[in-house]
Amino acid sequence: MHRKRNLIACLVILLLVFSGCTVPNNKHEEESGNSAVKENTVDEQYNAVVFPDGVDETCTENTSDESDSEPQSVPVPNSDSDSDFFVPKLAPGKYTVSQTSEIFYTDRAIIYIEPNIYYPKDFGDIVEYTLDLIEQETGLTFSTDKQLIIQVQKAGPYGTKSGIVIQPVDVLPDNIYTLFHELSHTVQYQTCDITMLSITEGFAIMNSMKMSGKSRLPSLYDVFFNMSFFDNESLMLSDPETYLTEVRGWDAYMAGFRFVYFLEEKYGDDILPKIFRKAGELYPDGGCGNSELIDIIKSQTSQYVFQEFAKWYENNRQIFVRTYPVINLENTDYLEIFPYYDDNTKIYWLPAFTYRNSITLDFTGGFSYLQHSGLKVKGIFGTATSEGKHTLSFFDASDKLICTKQIDNSQVELDIYGAVKIEITGDGSVINIQPDINSITVN
Ligand SMILES: [Zn+2]
Repeated sequence: MHRKRNLIACLVILLLVFSGCTVPNNKHEEESGNSAVKENTVDEQYNAVVFPDGVDETCTENTSDESDSEPQSVPVPNSDSDSDFFVPKLAPGKYTVSQTSEIFYTDRAIIYIEPNIYYPKDFGDIVEYTLDLIEQETGLTFSTDKQLIIQVQKAGPYGTKSGIVIQPVDVLPDNIYTLFHELSHTVQYQTCDITMLSITEGFAIMNSMKMSGKSRLPSLYDVFFNMSFFDNESLMLSDPETYLTEVRGWDAYMAGFRFVYFLEEKYGDDILPKIFRKAGELYPDGGCGNSELIDIIKSQTSQYVFQEFAKWYENNRQIFVRTYPVINLENTDYLEIFPYYDDNTKIYWLPAFTYRNSITLDFTGGFSYLQHSGLKVKGIFGTATSEGKHTLSFFDASDKLICTKQIDNSQVELDIYGAVKIEITGDGSVINIQPDINSITVN
């Protein structure tokens, strides 16, 4: 099943909001998942109050004299030599590039990677870790009969009973959500062979969301934002049973998420695995059509479950309205920042987030990826917008402090040559770092 790559919707929004560009023609827009775009107008976007550049900044053309940011071997250029300065060629570190088609084996999976894919060397471990997490989260188990087949290529993403196909960008840390989502489909299909799209997608979305909060790999996908702005809500509520049975396309994701969310609220967060196990028991060789599945859902919940859903939804629809994405990163202190960079889309996209006491945004792998793609990288450029008080410390590739900037309910320009990391400390309130790929890179 195709997962809607609604990240693109956000990319498009941000393109519109921040640069006034036209909407790129993106091949991921298979379904009508841009409903967020349609209704999410500019004034609904994240926009903190904008004041002039923050106070106390030490990030000037020539490095600061302040004693605590002493070691300034970083070659910060003068303005007239800007174009000569680039981040030195970065070692790929924990990443590598497939030279040919590569195949490797983990305990439970066979992984195929197309040539010329930039991927984490420990991708096999990431897959195994994700499989474990899905099993813990769902109580379902992946079949041990055959190894799962994980293909990384320019196709998909989708998940089947035998494994998944994901795209090159999906092996990078900021798209980890795709792995959660597609493997959720696989564990479901291995438990029961059902075809009702709202249920299969609702489960994958809900499960990925729960995993996102627990995984050691933080996900930047804000499910609530991406599932906001449901055009056909009233159609769903007028006859939920028929609607949820028949709905196709992106609406199946929207409605399915809402229904599964309700089922878990009302009947416990193991209700979907219970339904799947029952379907697998009753129809071990397939044949569980939509009406059979509806009967199973009712038998595991209530005869009136669809009416209950409609009533619940009337009182709880606010849960599903989020006008701009905000990620809670309070469970992590380190985040790798990659551009979304393929044939169609070239952008950095980072949602606003909250954090605990400090968090490091590490651009190193992403910069190495851009360098691998033939671009020169200047440093960290873009904007930072905050609702609260934060100190941004910029580091170069050898981990030396270049300078610091403070923002306090303000927006500042970032133009830090040579920087590859930002350490943010502060009150943990919402901050939105928006790297600008056009300023960061030179062809
Ligand atoms: Zn899906």
